[in-house]
Amino acid sequence: MKLVFYAALLTAVLAKELQLATECDPEACKLPDCRCSSTSIPGGLEPRNTPQFVTLTFDDGVNVINVETYREVLYNRVNSNNCPVRATFYVSHEYTNYQLVNELYNRGHEIALHSISHRTPPSFWAAATYDEIKEEIADQKVQIAHFANIPFEEVKGVRLPFLQMNGNTSFQVMSDFGLTYDCTWPASAQTQRGLWPYTLDYASTQDCTIPPCPTASLPGSWVVPMIAWTDPNGFPCVMVDACTSFPDREDPDAWFRFIVTNFERHYLANRAPFGFFVHEWYISAYPAVKTALVRFMDMINTLPDVFMVSSSDVVEWVRNPIPIAEYRSRSCKTFRQTACPASSCGPLVAEHNQVNFIMVTSLVFVLLLRRVDELTAHLVLSGYWSP
Ligand code: ZN
Repeated sequence: MKLVFYAALLTAVLAKELQLATECDPEACKLPDCRCSSTSIPGGLEPRNTPQFVTLTFDDGVNVINVETYREVLYNRVNSNNCPVRATFYVSHEYTNYQLVNELYNRGHEIALHSISHRTPPSFWAAATYDEIKEEIADQKVQIAHFANIPFEEVKGVRLPFLQMNGNTSFQVMSDFGLTYDCTWPASAQTQRGLWPYTLDYASTQDCTIPPCPTASLPGSWVVPMIAWTDPNGFPCVMVDACTSFPDREDPDAWFRFIVTNFERHYLANRAPFGFFVHEWYISAYPAVKTALVRFMDMINTLPDVFMVSSSDVVEWVRNPIPIAEYRSRSCKTFRQTACPASSCGPLVAEHNQVNFIMVTSLVFVLLLRRVDELTAHLVLSGYWSP
């Protein structure tokens, strides 16, 4: 009975903490920590002075199969300012080889969170509680930082599975566990002039296609909208591999034109970041799509006002917007290179249940021993985990 009382009290306290977001007041909401949801360019810059950011993102497990594509299309590629391009990987635990996640991090790419279980159905994510999101996201931050040997503070972003929004709750977890931004939320309405990243201090003007979307004031939580492309039939699509209509997938020229047409909607307007959101399987299954993507990157990597950066780089720029000339004059980001032998990537004791996690790596396989205390083991052969 007492427990029920305290649970009710806790719920009341948590509920009391959340205030319904009100219409954004640009006078009260100022950078670097607050920004109204808006298509206006941060810092009041003119489009011609605004860097056009391109964010290429990949979702799900990182393993020996898909890393070949990442190495082929991304490694040794630089922007026109000679800084290495950065992609963002929203990594889920299953089928992930953390040695390869470490390799991607060491190559300068951003590693972000996409849940531990990636469980179905999508409705789980719509209704997931604070504790469930904490176990999937906050615990994953601990896990991935440890097993891939990435500095804890470098894990900043979240994309929920299936782009299924979770209302206010996932943002509460992000805020409580030091995560900066969410990149789950499709923007299908504000695409002609794209919606720039913003915070949830005040009510969002973004359309909500996969509810529930946040309604509370959640100060300091950044939303990086997934601005939809327009498919050849005029319909919006957020993941490139989920467009209901698309050019002939045997025709690299048609695909190149498709990509450029969508890119120009950003580049020739308010320069909102242009996202190429895709799963690796799509570009490896359709070589023409890969050819078109590489040709597109080759093109933009020569343009002096376009930069392939990570999602967290975009948020960082929006917080402190500077014109192209100043941006180009900056030195490239440097990263602390971290090795990932078994000795430094494990074991890990989970705080919430004291379960031991240990990873042993070799050149040909990864052996993941889970719950060492119960002597149960799972073999991950070539990066694939078969529980
Ligand atoms: Zn996914």
